[in-house]
Amino acid sequence: MPNTPLWIKTALDERRQQALLRQTVTLDGPQTPTARFNGSIYTSFCSNDYLGLANHPDLIRAVQASAEQYGVGGGASHLVCGHLAPHQALEEALADWLGYERVMLFSTGYMANLGVISALASKTCPVVQDKLNHASLIDGSVLAQSLLRRYLHGDVSSARKLLQKIAIPGLLVTDGVFSMDGDLAPLASLAALAQEENWLFMVDDAHGLGCLGNNGRGSLSLESLDARAVPVLVGTFGKAFGTSGAFVATSNEIADYLTQFARPYIYTTSMSPAIAGATLAALRLIQSSEGEERRAILASHIRYFRQRMAELPVRLMPSDTAIQPIVIGDSDKTLAASEALKTLGVWCTAIRPPTVPIGSARLRITLSASHSKDDLALLCDSLESVLVAKVKCE
Ligand SMILES: *Cc1c(COP(=O)(O)O)cnc(C)c1O
Repeated sequence: MPNTPLWIKTALDERRQQALLRQTVTLDGPQTPTARFNGSIYTSFCSNDYLGLANHPDLIRAVQASAEQYGVGGGASHLVCGHLAPHQALEEALADWLGYERVMLFSTGYMANLGVISALASKTCPVVQDKLNHASLIDGSVLAQSLLRRYLHGDVSSARKLLQKIAIPGLLVTDGVFSMDGDLAPLASLAALAQEENWLFMVDDAHGLGCLGNNGRGSLSLESLDARAVPVLVGTFGKAFGTSGAFVATSNEIADYLTQFARPYIYTTSMSPAIAGATLAALRLIQSSEGEERRAILASHIRYFRQRMAELPVRLMPSDTAIQPIVIGDSDKTLAASEALKTLGVWCTAIRPPTVPIGSARLRITLSASHSKDDLALLCDSLESVLVAKVKCE
């Protein structure tokens, strides 16, 4: 191996000293609340498998059945010859479920956001985003080389000021559910603002779809918004759907436009047809009475968790979703809390800057329908014993 350049060593050392070094952990089993790694078993509260579908037998059967019929690899990009029947079936089922003219699949949510924003925005089409939007939305603007302005988190009047200051109409973009805070965007007010100012409104509902709203239709459904109010909706399959990949739901004309200009759609292999088949099975579960039951269990876990935490001196977020972060602030203390939880059999990774703003390191606790009541009790008891002592000295 050649010598590592000094600037790489320096950057790593800096991260290490600031308690910000990130590392992967290898799980010895499927994504379930029971996580095995380093020879131990933990109850996990940091996956985005909100409905517990990642290891669901229906999805496993669907992946096997689709692979037998359509193989494993897409073999080419959608536009060359990689668009197979399971992709088409999934696109049509999603469009039907959400009430959009068209749906286009992407290999990941990161790529969907890069693709949509880099195609729609440009030097003459600015982007305005919530300050806490997901990194992939921000990166889309960078790829577009467009003007990017960010408004105060969840603040519609701050957004209005920016739109009015920038004379030319552009793209207004927000998360539906904020990934590190769990709170909801004021979607109805933002949609109205976009309409008044003639901006195109785009929502990334990665954490809302499947979990929230009528039939699991997500954040838009909570505010009765449709395809007219939100012309561009991005959803991902790596969270509640329990698979991987993503989609954009939009009008025929915008989909035709993206098909020409969204480079992360054009220049990449289609998602595995087997995953498309499994994702359709996930959608059918989300739409079924089992999906309804899973959402009800998740909601009752959220209520229990917030009740228990309200009794403790901890900083909870104003969140009614599966994302229930506890902000500790300091990165060292957050890491220490995460390690202390591990000794009690609870796994929750510390989320630190730059993923979250400086001084707001947190335990990003995520709840799932696949947790049991006992899992929740273990979590709350462990947090109580670890945090009550730690948080006091904040
Ligand atoms: C997870 C996430 C993404 C990225 O989706 P992947 O499919 O994991 O690449 C995009 N947006 C938001 C808000 C997310 O939480």
